[in-house]
Amino acid sequence: MRCRLAARADIDAVAVVHHETTTGLLNPVAEIAETARAAKVAVVVDGISSFGAEELALAGSGIDFLVCSSNKCLQGLPGAAFVLISPRGADRVAEVPPSSVYLDLGGYLGGAASGSVPFTPAIPALSSLDAALGELLARGPADHRLRYAERAAVLDAVLEGLGLEPIVASEHRSRTVRAIPLPRGVDYEDLHAALKRDGYVIYAGQGPLAAEIFRVCCMGTLELDTLRAFGDRLAAALDREPAPA
Ligand SMILES: *Cc1c(COP(=O)(O)O)cnc(C)c1O
Repeated sequence: MRCRLAARADIDAVAVVHHETTTGLLNPVAEIAETARAAKVAVVVDGISSFGAEELALAGSGIDFLVCSSNKCLQGLPGAAFVLISPRGADRVAEVPPSSVYLDLGGYLGGAASGSVPFTPAIPALSSLDAALGELLARGPADHRLRYAERAAVLDAVLEGLGLEPIVASEHRSRTVRAIPLPRGVDYEDLHAALKRDGYVIYAGQGPLAAEIFRVCCMGTLELDTLRAFGDRLAAALDREPAPA
């Protein structure tokens, strides 16, 4: 990637999704950003479903824009997005004319510098985000991430006990989402309905994966016992014997 980037003066930025919520795959963002940084190309990262749960060191990483949202792993209400911007990224924003009135980062940065905002903010979402960040900081970011790792480990044990192997290899899995092949003869809608009757919601695969996989997500303040109880209901819905997780 490095030599191609260096040879292409027309490439202005590299954009990458940190956590592919569609499959539960973590992309090697640190390596990609390092390569782009060496080629002096800006790096834009979609960290929407990873921020708070996954490791990602920002200082010196080459990441210029990290886009995050109030919900998902920060556990606030949906409705607010924010961008962490490097000094180099802020300089770049100042050079680029806005392409939209509302989504104009320069306008937000200018407003922030004077303690203001260009538009009426979504106060309930921001207030909930503030409370969620307060809770997270009281526990500490490392502890927050650790809880996600613990939940993912229990979910993996539950799935393994049922003989269900996620489509992403264990070393590339996130701490929140598992995409699992639908066992032969199992219809997604039937599985979804059976689990929903028991109080659990699973997600379908997206696009061409809709008929192939189902997804299980453990974001938010789920207790480990909730995940184990889910495993029991999943076993019943699939007519399988659970192994203790
Ligand atoms: C959820 C998600 C989005 C979209 O975020 P919304 O808050 O639903 O608009 C974008 N990227 C990723 C990786 C996501 O998981």
